[in-house]
Amino acid sequence: MSAEYDIVVVGAGPAGSTVAEHAALQGVSVLLLDKKKVIGVPVACGEFLPETYEIKATFPRAPDLDELFEVPEDLILRQMGLFRMIAPSRRHWDVPFRGYTTDRDRFD
Ligand SMILES: Cc1cc2nc3c(=O)[nH]c(=O)nc-3n(C[C@H](O)[C@H](O)[C@H](O)COP(=O)(O)OP(=O)(O)OC[C@H]3O[C@@H](n4cnc5c(N)ncnc54)[C@H](O)[C@@H]3O)c2cc1C
Repeated sequence: MSAEYDIVVVGAGPAGSTVAEHAALQGVSVLLLDKKKVIGVPVACGEFLPETYEIKATFPRAPDLDELFEVPEDLILRQMGLFRMIAPSRRHWDVPFRGYTTDRDRFD
């Protein structure tokens, strides 16, 4: 293992892993470090991601969303078509919104 790198990224969550990937794709040498023994474990996340067109509708000027939210099919666990808000009275409201849950530890 080389002892010198162009970039050292500390933290292998989605942000650090994305930075490390893009830096490596530019041809620089990258060391990605995380304090966890197994990256992504334990999972501390609701595992929900919106469909990319929903993100584009919310953040129309954000760049590179297709690339950033390119999630492999085998990491998609369940498709969702709405949010359901349930009041203590048990009355509920449905808001159409498409997304899916991911297998977050494998995603990381
Ligand atoms: C309870 C909960 C539920 C959530 N539910 C959702 C959801 O449903 N959908 C959604 O999109 N988002 C959800 N989020 C938010 C999502 O998890 C974060 O936005 C995302 O993880 C942020 O990514 P990150 O890479 O910035 O940070 P993190 O994922 O926190 O990654 C940081 C990494 O850095 C490492 N690290 C930290 N300090 C050091 C150090 N000193 N040395 C080495 N390594 C270090 C950590 O071990 C970790 O792996 C949820 C968050 C929580 C807490």
